[in-house]
Amino acid sequence: MKIILLGAPGSGKGTQAVKIAEKYGLTHISTGDIFRENIKNQTELGKKVKAIMDEGRLCPDDVTCELVKDRLSKNDCKNGYLLDGFPRNLFQAGELDKFAAPDKVINLIVDLGKIERRITGRRSCPKCNGSFHIDFIGDVKTCPTCGGELVIRKDDNPETVKERLSVYEKQTAPLVDYYTAQGKVIDIDGDQSIDDVFSSIVKALK
Ligand code: AMP
Repeated sequence: MKIILLGAPGSGKGTQAVKIAEKYGLTHISTGDIFRENIKNQTELGKKVKAIMDEGRLCPDDVTCELVKDRLSKNDCKNGYLLDGFPRNLFQAGELDKFAAPDKVINLIVDLGKIERRITGRRSCPKCNGSFHIDFIGDVKTCPTCGGELVIRKDDNPETVKERLSVYEKQTAPLVDYYTAQGKVIDIDGDQSIDDVFSSIVKALK
């Protein structure tokens, strides 16, 4: 099974990706997590993309596509993948179709007016890559899953979120039409509880 998770920043892609990957035994690949890991480890790639990510813009297509191609060639992707955050534009989608076209594209739909609140209340764990909301866990400092120290992502501030949403609308949203034309899109109402969104996805994948 090769699955892509599409949706605006803050639509719950990361949260659902972890649950879907676990249920179906798929390898979860988040390009955002890979870039953040590189920034944390101060690799050449990390240095190249840090400023771009802090501003909410997209990292270069050639670097991103190469990274995904390399990751998908690994043994743990032999039986499929769950891509979260890739592709982000039509160029990347065209490249992916050349080396590992998806079977299904899950499109998480959330009212854009609610996104800012969702993102600015988000707390992330760099240790296990978990993502939580203060409305559910309170304003705590440690990760409920692994006990790591929770942080606010650098690009989760209102100004950068605005830029990320604008990038989403201009560059990523057209992918819905692209994959609809291929008959692969499953629309999911992302404006439900985490468990209800997950149940809707499982039902739709049956
Ligand atoms: P995310 O964790 O998916 O919200 O991604 C965080 C940031 O990583 C984005 O705002 C981009 O700067 C970068 N990024 C993640 N995935 C991609 C991608 N497929 N293409 C370009 N940039 C990306």
